[in-house]
Amino acid sequence: MKNLRIRFLALSLGFAAAASAQDLAPITQAETTRIVKALSADDMQGRASFTPGIEKAAGFLQQEFQRIGLQPLPGEDDFKQTFTMYRVSPQVKQVQLNSKAVKPEHVFAITDKKMLNWTKQGKQSVVTVGEQDDFRTVLGELNTDTLDALVLVHPKHEELFSRYQHYMGSGTVKKQLDESGSKVFILTDQMAPSSYTIKLENNIEQLQLTNVGGMIAGRRKDEFVVFSGHYDHIGIQQPTSGDSIANGADDDAAGTTAMLLLAAYYKQQPQPERSLLFVAFAAEEIGGFGSKYFSEQLNPEQIVAMFNIEMVGKPSKFGPNSAYLTGFERSNLGTLMQQRLQGTAYSIHPDPYPEQNLFYRSDNATLARLGVPAHTISSVQIDQDKTYHTVDDELEQLNMEHLTNMIKAIALASEGVVNGKDTPTRVDKSQVR
Ligand SMILES: [Zn+2]
Repeated sequence: MKNLRIRFLALSLGFAAAASAQDLAPITQAETTRIVKALSADDMQGRASFTPGIEKAAGFLQQEFQRIGLQPLPGEDDFKQTFTMYRVSPQVKQVQLNSKAVKPEHVFAITDKKMLNWTKQGKQSVVTVGEQDDFRTVLGELNTDTLDALVLVHPKHEELFSRYQHYMGSGTVKKQLDESGSKVFILTDQMAPSSYTIKLENNIEQLQLTNVGGMIAGRRKDEFVVFSGHYDHIGIQQPTSGDSIANGADDDAAGTTAMLLLAAYYKQQPQPERSLLFVAFAAEEIGGFGSKYFSEQLNPEQIVAMFNIEMVGKPSKFGPNSAYLTGFERSNLGTLMQQRLQGTAYSIHPDPYPEQNLFYRSDNATLARLGVPAHTISSVQIDQDKTYHTVDDELEQLNMEHLTNMIKAIALASEGVVNGKDTPTRVDKSQVR
């Protein structure tokens, strides 16, 4: 019964959508397709941070902002908001316990030092994580102390060890180097070695990341509404049937496209009451560094709302023309959006996947931590989407009609906030971890 009713409703409302489509120019399916196609094309190489592919994507976005006719973000003189990060990548690993070489995959380090040269005669302490110990608890404790430590981890913890090893091995990106305490972890059953030598080297680079953003100045210069999507993705992956490019069409070329078309839409509307910031974030996939830097350039008290858009290229579990909002109950932004969408073809729902922690899995969380009503709009069926973070997240998998409708839905749902009629409640910072 329920399914039938929903389908009937969707059908009748779909008709209304077609009727109102022309009012929302320039949000057209042709434009949606043009932009999402360009961003997810193979020549962007999966838009991984610090690659030529992401630079190409940034150049494309910059051109689009130019074409739409936006102003730079506050404090910037063009559409690129560039900042510097460090990347620490482990290079050399030579480790011996009791004069026997330890396999590289049984070693990882948490250190930002260029080089470590340890022997048993050194000053570092030795910590053991035995069969019965809780590895996670020990890690938590070590995290807060600033001493050098060699951590011997029993093979029983191999699974968790491998995960950390894999994560650290691919290099870490950070804002500042932490030279305080180094930790070296070795997977071994030798809990009391009579000798050890540890020689590790890191490659440390200073690299740039770039958010691409623009503004439509409103009548109120000190009240901002943010529309965003992240334009980075995960780059080149293990080939599957000859394809190795993770195009990230849904994640998040779709959301970035939505952000751009909302900029184009609001640029054609009369001057808004509030100032509108449109931004494509860098480095979401490797730690959310783009949104972090962006948030530090503004006074969060002046940000009235953030509409972050992620993976809106496929119909949601609520049917076509519908999306959900992460952290729905944390402010009343979702309710305000629902009110604006009443009588339209579109609907917005509370996040149906609370167990997936989606509220914390995108750039909105950074601003929510500052009290901003910052949420992510999404329609991905994350519990069953088979292309998520694979080389199959491609243009052909998207439903262009749905994506175009999602952009129209956000345009309509955000109108009250843009024009100063709706002011969402703030997020309670103490409830955001
Ligand atoms: Zn994403």
